[in-house]
Amino acid sequence: MRRFRDRPIRQKLTVALLSTSVAVLLLAAITFSAYEYVNFRDDVVRTLGTQGDVTAESSTALLTFGDEQAGNETLSVLRSDPHILAAALYRADGRLFAAYRRTDRLALQLPSIPPREGYFFAPDYLEVSRPILVGRRSVGTLYLRSDLELMRARLVRYLAITASVSVAALLVALWLSARFQRIITQPILELAAAAEKVALEKSYATRVESPGRDELGTLVTAFNDMLAQVQQRDAALLAENVERRQAEAEVRQLNTRLEERVLERTAQLNVSNVDLRAAKERAESANRAKSIFLANMSHELRTPLNAIIGYSELLAELAEEQGKADFVSDLEKIRFSGRHLLSLIRNVLDLAKIEADRFEVTPEPVDVKALVDELVATGAVLASAGNNRFRADAEAGIGTLVTDGKFLRQILLNLISNACKFTKDGDVRVSVMYEPAAPGPSGICFAVADTGIGIPETELSRVFEEFHQVDGSTTKRVGGTGLGLAIARRLSELLGGTLDVESTAGSGSTFYLRLPATPVRELKTA
Ligand code: ADP
Repeated sequence: MRRFRDRPIRQKLTVALLSTSVAVLLLAAITFSAYEYVNFRDDVVRTLGTQGDVTAESSTALLTFGDEQAGNETLSVLRSDPHILAAALYRADGRLFAAYRRTDRLALQLPSIPPREGYFFAPDYLEVSRPILVGRRSVGTLYLRSDLELMRARLVRYLAITASVSVAALLVALWLSARFQRIITQPILELAAAAEKVALEKSYATRVESPGRDELGTLVTAFNDMLAQVQQRDAALLAENVERRQAEAEVRQLNTRLEERVLERTAQLNVSNVDLRAAKERAESANRAKSIFLANMSHELRTPLNAIIGYSELLAELAEEQGKADFVSDLEKIRFSGRHLLSLIRNVLDLAKIEADRFEVTPEPVDVKALVDELVATGAVLASAGNNRFRADAEAGIGTLVTDGKFLRQILLNLISNACKFTKDGDVRVSVMYEPAAPGPSGICFAVADTGIGIPETELSRVFEEFHQVDGSTTKRVGGTGLGLAIARRLSELLGGTLDVESTAGSGSTFYLRLPATPVRELKTA
């Protein structure tokens, strides 16, 4: 059986109304019945008492004269009342004077002594006892016993009526409750049905008609408002979902397109890679061919050039001996141009070799002190041409450096020769110092400083470019190929180092060659 709590609200209301009605009716019926019972008893007692009084009155003379037969006759009058069960008259001394018993109750025992005045209710009967007085003197006692049939019949009738009225009242209450409860339950049922529909079908457009302005009306309005909000959010969500799905589809489409593009590009790249590899191989073989050509050409050029230079020197000496000064200066020009061309060819060859990666670095221990002594010797000759002072020194304790000595000498000679070229009556100085460089590995720095013409700031970064020369009469005068610094920087890089310059136009330049203290091979494999 379902619990009362789970029953439909209509049933609950019916049960509540009916149980209230039943309780009220029961209480009223019990109260009235009790009241009526007491009334009935009083009536019975009063009626029997009156009957007793009448009988006692008519028995006064009989008892006074002791006429027993008349006494029995007087009592037998009571036969007319079917409810009187028995009657008795007692003398003043308590002896029985006359008696009456209803024919069907002959065996009924009468009290042996007269009961005291008053009445007594037994379950089935009522006894009344009355003194028989003459004036104020008692001459005997009358005893009456009556059944309670009359009272019972009235009580039964009363209860039957009460029951009928109660049932009728209950039916009316049931009918009224059915009518009135609909006012309350109908909106609730509609609300419940709408809620169920919303839950099952998700149809947020559902609305419930408001029953009025009471609490139920408020509830229904709130429910409708809530549904309206949910409907609005649902629509927004739906729109958002559609948008998201569209965006996802677009993203998927884009992805597909992207994948296609990637595949396409990969295929193109593969083709390009193949082309590039072929081009690279072609370029490499062309480069090799170029290097071989340059090496051959330089050899081929150098041989006749050396002959031209040699013969021009020889002819110059002869001309000088023969006093032909005009020839001497012309032959000097040939010799100068030949030398210039020779150095140009050498430089171009070096550059070509570097580019073709054909310069092999051969690390070896280089004694820095011995190197400095070498530089002093060479530098002094170069410096003397411009009337410059030359100095070279190394910081104490530098010792040996592992690097390619040939390349290191080439770089330093180039820097010293430049310093001497662009300085007049000044100083050229080479300093070697240990540099615990931070950050980066510690190293050794070769600084080549001069007090010459210097380099304008705008030209500083360009002096390392191939064939670049700073414009100016000095440069033109001293000549050069514009390749020396480019080669020096490439060689520095080959040795794992750097080459930089600091300069102020008019007051000199300092070139810094920084090489790692670590051996070159170790550096390359690191
Ligand atoms: P070049 O053979 O002309 O000297 P470099 O590459 O050695 O070629 O030098 C490039 C240019 O840098 C030079 O022409 C000169 O103008 C400038 N230069 C190089 N060293 C110095 C220096 N010590 N002082 C002033 N200018 C310099």
